[in-house]
Amino acid sequence: MAISILGSTGSIGRQTLDILQSEHLAPGAPVLEVAALAAGASNLELLGKQIVDFEPELVAVPSDSDRESLRDILSDYFRSGKKTEILIGEEGLIACATHPAAKTVVTAVVGFLGVKPTLEAIKAGKTIALANKETMVAAGHLVNELAAKHGSKIVPVDSEHSAIYQSLEASILKAQAAGKSLEQAGEVEKLLLTGSGGPFRTWSEEAMARATVSDALKHPNWSMGAKITIDSATLMNKGLEVIEARWLFSIPAHKIEVVIHPQSILHSAVEFVDGSIVGQLGQPDMRLPIHFALYHPHRVPSARVPRLSLSELKDLTFEKPNFSRFPCLAMAQEVAAKDDSSACVLNAANEIAVDSFLKGKITFTDIARTIERTLSVHKPIKAPQLGDILEADRWAREKSVSLVAV
Ligand code: NDP
Ligand code: MG
Repeated sequence: MAISILGSTGSIGRQTLDILQSEHLAPGAPVLEVAALAAGASNLELLGKQIVDFEPELVAVPSDSDRESLRDILSDYFRSGKKTEILIGEEGLIACATHPAAKTVVTAVVGFLGVKPTLEAIKAGKTIALANKETMVAAGHLVNELAAKHGSKIVPVDSEHSAIYQSLEASILKAQAAGKSLEQAGEVEKLLLTGSGGPFRTWSEEAMARATVSDALKHPNWSMGAKITIDSATLMNKGLEVIEARWLFSIPAHKIEVVIHPQSILHSAVEFVDGSIVGQLGQPDMRLPIHFALYHPHRVPSARVPRLSLSELKDLTFEKPNFSRFPCLAMAQEVAAKDDSSACVLNAANEIAVDSFLKGKITFTDIARTIERTLSVHKPIKAPQLGDILEADRWAREKSVSLVAV
């Protein structure tokens, strides 16, 4: 079996390839081939190394000059007779997402960039190992519609959603067999989405207003790309995850409760109508949910996933989130209850605001302000189709760029 990885040089992409390295496979684990890799332009040396290690048939990079640089890096590889086609731009990304040999596509690019290739992979009937939550946030309605039409399976990589999926799998299968949605099947009381609370969990509002980029990039438990790390500091990440969960599990937003759990050991849980809470525990290490998604529906041994020893655990604590100190979470929860273009606008404004914060153009607390002001002037479109989503995204970016500039 083969896979494609969109965003192979990023945090999720690198960890996916780490799992696939033959010397890391546990005895008996099936070998997964790599059909295609796509990446951005910031780490072509690493992409070159990945190509040498995994010999994909197809690679995509953003531009023609990136392709030339990659060819230079790979001169020995090509001289030795290896064949890897290099495509560019959105067309290249989509070709990787729809490569005929790939059964599963790991969507590990960051942001709205993932929308079109993910939708194309779904139309091609691929299994989506979904890391790129922004696609589900901006286009969840469409993703579900197309996945049902084309029989494409979506397995979450996000650790919380993986935990919920694992806790819910029996209920999902029963609901499917009965031709019902999970909500119609009536077994689920609520989803309990856990989050560490990020680096500012105990900071005052005044201290957060003065937070620097390096303060916000210090995540207590997880090592991730810059954008999601800032999202974890504002708790927008948890908000995006509420929207992601709402679509992934077709559960109304009011049945998704965010619970702050600073140790990141219980990765999320489900409360059933009989009062039973079922959850999934593990080390805070993304290789576990990535491994689960790659091999689903099978449980396969891993030599890479770090083990958790329950008897060595100390305190596991849980608390309610503070919505007034973390307005991004409150905004996203409100948006999660709707089925319109607001989520796409929230996502786009957040991408612009986070990028502006990382570049030192706005303060940490301006992130929420920029999103709120953009949302307040948006005229939502119900059940948006692709054209509506692309237009809402374009509009929101333009609007929030103008807000950041003043
Ligand atoms: P990173 O920023 O680490 O990686 C992003 C990847 O996308 C890089 O490989 C980057 O390439 C690539 N990329 C950038 N531009 C393009 C382009 N034009 N074409 C193709 N590829 C491009 O992000 P993460 O791995 O942290 O996150 C990826 C996704 O997974 C996000 O949606 C995030 O929310 C989600 N996620 C991440 C988790 C984590 O632990 N990191 C946990 C749960 C979800 P390069 O940098 O080489 O230019
Ligand atoms: Mg997560």
